Parts: sequence; structure tokens; C-alpha cells
Amino acid sequence: MPTDSVQTDSVKTFDKLYIGGQWVPSTGSGSIDVINAATEQVMGRIPEGTADDVDRAVAAARDAFESWSQTDSSERSKFLQALADGLGARNQEIAETICGEVGMPMFLSQLVQAGLPTAVAGSYVAILDDFDFEEELGNSLVIKEPVGVVGCITPWNYPLHQIIAKVAPALAAGCTVVLKPSEVAPLNAFILAEIIDGIGLPAGVFNLVSGVGPVVGEAIAAHPDVDMVSFTGSTRAGKRVSELAAQTVKRVALELGGKSANILLDDLEGEDLEKAARAGVGSCYLNSGQTCTAFTRMLVPRDKHDQIVDILRDEVENVYTIGDPATGAGRLGPLISDAQRERVRGYIQKGIEEGATLVVGGPDQPEDLPTGYYVKPTVFAGVDNSMTIAQEEIFGPVLSVIPYDDEDDAVRIANDTVYGLSGGVWSADTDRAKRIARRIRTGQLEVNGGGFNALAPFGGYKQSGNGRELGTYGLEEFLQTKALQL
Ligand code: NAD
Repeated sequence: MPTDSVQTDSVKTFDKLYIGGQWVPSTGSGSIDVINAATEQVMGRIPEGTADDVDRAVAAARDAFESWSQTDSSERSKFLQALADGLGARNQEIAETICGEVGMPMFLSQLVQAGLPTAVAGSYVAILDDFDFEEELGNSLVIKEPVGVVGCITPWNYPLHQIIAKVAPALAAGCTVVLKPSEVAPLNAFILAEIIDGIGLPAGVFNLVSGVGPVVGEAIAAHPDVDMVSFTGSTRAGKRVSELAAQTVKRVALELGGKSANILLDDLEGEDLEKAARAGVGSCYLNSGQTCTAFTRMLVPRDKHDQIVDILRDEVENVYTIGDPATGAGRLGPLISDAQRERVRGYIQKGIEEGATLVVGGPDQPEDLPTGYYVKPTVFAGVDNSMTIAQEEIFGPVLSVIPYDDEDDAVRIANDTVYGLSGGVWSADTDRAKRIARRIRTGQLEVNGGGFNALAPFGGYKQSGNGRELGTYGLEEFLQTKALQL
């Protein structure tokens, strides 16, 4: 069924929400403009949904839960395969849309923003085929059942990936869903709804209500008929969602911010040291630093600090060009919005004021890019971990180099933040790196640059959250456990 989306003067307009298997108007009359990060022009428009829209969507999801929760996992697996196929078929369009919304260069947008959701949706086909929803335990039969109606609230930085990391396992578990995507990068969610509509998923199993967090997001979090909220976004909004959800004792899974440390151990020399330092820049700057797992703090042995800073300067000046994401003119695109650019510039200014050494970059707009929300890739050296730039999530291309005295000091600094999402350890001795990694209080760690694994559990310690997404762990988030005593 068509969405009645309209394309005029390159403004992609969606004027309806997807509720109960139908494209329906919002009960409100507001709309939200979507801005292209590189051109600063309006590229799309979506409905500004209301709390009444949430009521309708939750009612549709509740109705659909009755039969969807009873389906055989093999039936759900077929829908997930169709979903993965549908996402794959629209890869180019999804990549172009998110390249415009977020500003990530096209080649990365194709790979990460469009490719990853396709892979994750597909991963649940195989997971469902193997997953045991029942277990015998003495005289009990333990049954894992879908938790119910799930509200999914998602951010803008990897918008479709973060949606699929919730929607695919929730559907696989037998849950029904009400999705509220980020209002800053929502167009990809409407493409997803079109795909879901096209694969014939039963009405009400998936519902889309766009709008702003304090209205639509809060209505979902507080709704008595929502059994679980799965939230990805800032720690600030995650706390608010938890407060609201507590009133009805619903399950809350939170994926929040980070301030991850990348430790380069003192046994690294020569090429190994160079490789670790250069790779660390990439781990900080992916998506112009707008990545929750970004390795924003590089912890280096004090006596190698200056040597490493020289390598970093060379890497940033020669590799991390910035430019139009649509044409692939730069390795980094703009930040997502004017507000985000101003926020990041403010942090760079703060770093200078607090006495960190500006090695490269800075707060000014790049001279050759007057339009677009660009920020110069920036490195600070001689950073103390108590500085604002070392403690707060900046969400921009800003790397802080922090010297440490010995192994224990490195571990202490790495753990000295309210966050605990990710991090890295590099050493000439992998066993030593693994020993250090075990002492870091975060949900993931890369040892010597170990690659991203879309089946490994992903989530935070401390104020980075309490949920685990992806793979089997991600499926279990959406399951309730019942014991039948026999
Ligand atoms: P945000 O918290 O501003 O918004 C996230 C979502 O929450 C949006 O859909 C927004 O509309 C909604 N929201 C905002 N206020 C709300 C409220 N009061 N009640 C309910 N919903 C509300 O975050 P953002 O700026 O979109 O994304 C960036 C943040 O997300 C960063 O902090 C980043 O670290 C975090 N993030 C975390 C992960 C992870 O998996 N841990 C992944 C990506 C991003």
C-alpha cells in the first residue's frame, strides 16, 4: 500500500503515520522538517505525532499481540527474511537518505547505515532457527514468551541500525512494536514502514508514530498498555524514560552515551605503536565522532605521549579530510545539525580554556566549507581526565590524549567516568591486553583492534545503560520467563 509520500522540489514528504497496518493521518496538525546536514536545506517532512496517536498505535499493537505472540518461530523467521530482503533491495535509497539526514559519506552510509540493518535483520533468521524457547528443569518446564507490546525509541546517529537492533529481535520474540524514531533523522524509518507494509506483516504488529521525545516518547514510556520500552539515546532522556516507565513497572532496556577509553600499553614500539595510534583516530572519528562507542579518550604512556601526538597530527592532517558526504569529497562529513555543531564547538573552546593543548583542528568553521554543519577534526594533547572534554560525551570529531604513569593508572583513568560502553586495549602481548580488558568496566572492548561483531552482545555498564542488543542476547531482552511445574 502506498504511503502517499510526496516528492516535491527534492523534499520527501510523509504525511501519514503507520498504525494498525494502515497509513493514517495524525490526530495533530503539526509537521517536522528534516534538514540535510551538508546543504542546510529542508530535505523532508514528517508528521508531528501526538499522545492520541500513541494511544491508537498501542491499541493496534495490543490487538495484534494476541495472535502474533502465538505464531510459530518459523513463521516469524520468514517475515524476518523478507524484511532483510526488502532492506537489501532498497540499500541505495536508504544510504542516500541517511547520508542526507546524518551527513555520513556515501561509501560508509552504504556499508554501515544501510548494510548493517540488513545484516542484523537477516541474523535473526538463523538465530530463530536455533533458539530454544523451552527448557526442562527438574519438574519444571521453563517457557520463554514474548514480553508483550514494546515501545522502541531511537536516536539519529545510526538511525536505521538502532531501529532494526530493536525491531528485528522484538518481532523475532513474538512481540508487537510501536516505534518512535528520532525526529532529526526519521525518513529512513518511513522507508522501513513501507518495506514492512510490503511484506504483509499482520496489521498492528509494527506501528510507526513520529514526533518529538517529550510528547510521543514520553507517551510511550508512560503508557500502561506498553509492557517494555527499549530506548537508545542520551543518558539524560534515558533517565526520564525510566522515571516514567517506573510508574507502571514496565521493563526498560537502555542503550545510552559513552566516553570510551582506548589504552595503548607501554610495550608497543615502532610499527605496532604507529598502527595502534592511527587506528585510534578512526575509532574516534567514525561518523564525525557521532558514535556512542567512539574511543574519545586515548590513554598513552607518559614517556611516549609526544611521540604518539606526532603520529596523530600526521594522521589527522593527511587522512581525515572533510567534505560533501554525497560526493565522497571527504573522509568525514558534517555533523547532523546546527545545534550539534555549536555544542561540539563549545566543547572545543572549553578544552582550550581548561588548558589542554590544541594539536590540530579547533572551533572555527572550515574556511572552504561555509555551508554545512562541519567541524574540523580536532585533537587535544596533555589532557587531564578531570577536564570537561575528558568527562562529557561530546559527540563530534574530538580526540583527547591523556597520559598515564603505569598499568594501574591507565585502568583507573579508563574507569574514571560515569559511562561504561566500550573501549580498546592495544599491546604487543595479547594476553596482557586481555587481562587489562577484564579490568575495564564497559560492555565491549576491542583487543588490538578486534572488529565489530554483529552477533556479540552490545550494551553498557554504569550510566551507559542496562540492556544488551544484537544476537541471541538481543533476542532474550524481549522475552519473559514462565515456569510450569509438572
Ligand atoms: P536523545 O536522547 O536526544 O534522543 C533519543 C530519542 O529519545 C529520540 O527519539 C528523542 O526524540 C527521544 N527523546 C528525547 N527526549 C525524550 C523524553 N523526554 N522522553 C522520551 N523520549 C525522548 O539522543 P540523540 O541526540 O538522538 O542521540 C545521541 C545520543 O544517543 C548520544 O548520547 C549517544 O551516545 C546515544 N546513543 C547510544 C547508543 C547505544 O547503543 N548505547 C547508540 C547510539 C546513540
